[in-house]
Amino acid sequence: MLEKIKALAREYEKEIVERRRYFHMNPEISWNEVETTKVIAEELKKLGCDNVKVGFGETRCGVTADIGEGAKCVALRADIDALPLNDEKDVPYKSQKAGVMHACGHDSHAAMLLGAAKILTRIKSSLKGKARLLFQPAEEHGMKPGAQALIDGGALEGVSAVFGIHSMSTVPAGEFQYRSGPFMAAADAWELIITGKGGHGSTPETSFDSNAAAFQVGSALQNIVSREISPRDAAVLSVGGLRSSSYVFNIIPERVEMLGSVRTFRVQVQDHIEEAMRRVVKGVCEAMRCKADLKYTRVIPATVNDPEITEQVKSVAEDLLGADKVKESELIMGSEDFSYFGRVVPAVFANLGVGNAAKKSDHPHHSAKFDVDESALYLGAAMHATFAWNYLSK
Ligand SMILES: [Zn+2]
Ligand SMILES: [Zn+2]
Repeated sequence: MLEKIKALAREYEKEIVERRRYFHMNPEISWNEVETTKVIAEELKKLGCDNVKVGFGETRCGVTADIGEGAKCVALRADIDALPLNDEKDVPYKSQKAGVMHACGHDSHAAMLLGAAKILTRIKSSLKGKARLLFQPAEEHGMKPGAQALIDGGALEGVSAVFGIHSMSTVPAGEFQYRSGPFMAAADAWELIITGKGGHGSTPETSFDSNAAAFQVGSALQNIVSREISPRDAAVLSVGGLRSSSYVFNIIPERVEMLGSVRTFRVQVQDHIEEAMRRVVKGVCEAMRCKADLKYTRVIPATVNDPEITEQVKSVAEDLLGADKVKESELIMGSEDFSYFGRVVPAVFANLGVGNAAKKSDHPHHSAKFDVDESALYLGAAMHATFAWNYLSK
């Protein structure tokens, strides 16, 4: 079957690249993927997929569909949204929309999964169950994650595992990277308001200096990761911004606002950092005669890969690409809303390299010159199809 899937992926390679270019030229930002959704849904209907469901999160964005028959069901996921960014590449398939661009490779994800749909349709009679395709909107949104909207819309009903691939420009094209257990970080956001008593810059004794409290808080926060978290656990606490209610040479400001982010891989560490921030902020501000108001929001959970399914993904990748092309990934401090699927059923997220300096596809994700080496895309389609066939056969 492996050779057959590989040959089919080669057969559809040109179509996969064409589709990717179409999506690249017609990008839509999170929760606006109406046309992208239409194109995908039409293609799935043409292929004869079952249960084609369109529209999630009370929008017309996102599609799910099934291929195959039987009780066992495995889901394959591609996110489809673009970013609010100007495409600065000089290529024939450049974005046709000012200020919108596929700068994270989600165009390639959608194209690879459509390729997989074609392959799976051709081997449908050999599938010992169903493959559910998840074309998910709004991965980049953060506050209204598309993954959760799909789950709320019933996309995981009957599903016993989810697999997803991200194209990575930082990984050489054609290389595949996996990691068992914690893989991508949880992203939390925090906002702090420190309120003191404003006054004249010449008479500090008449004020409670909110600036002075903010300086102490800023450095005290840096002790949390370094002094309270084990060096074996990766964590980041960053201050992203700081501003005073006045910015005048002879005024002590009444109030200071600070905000920032926290990245962790384990809930225990996340819990500890939130508790420590509340304790440190309150203690320091009280000592400085100021009032602290901290708002801490858990935005995206950590992506944690199921060890058993990771093993299956790894062996499928080795068979398909060759063992020398399959490597263990480092922990990634960025985050992914794929993590929501992993909270419901065993899930595995992995990276397919699309980086190639000679083809100018080694720019960072979310940058204006981001591109992918399209010669790797048929491999992603083959990975999706082979994993699904293999998982259903077990
Ligand atoms: Zn992104
Ligand atoms: Zn992405």
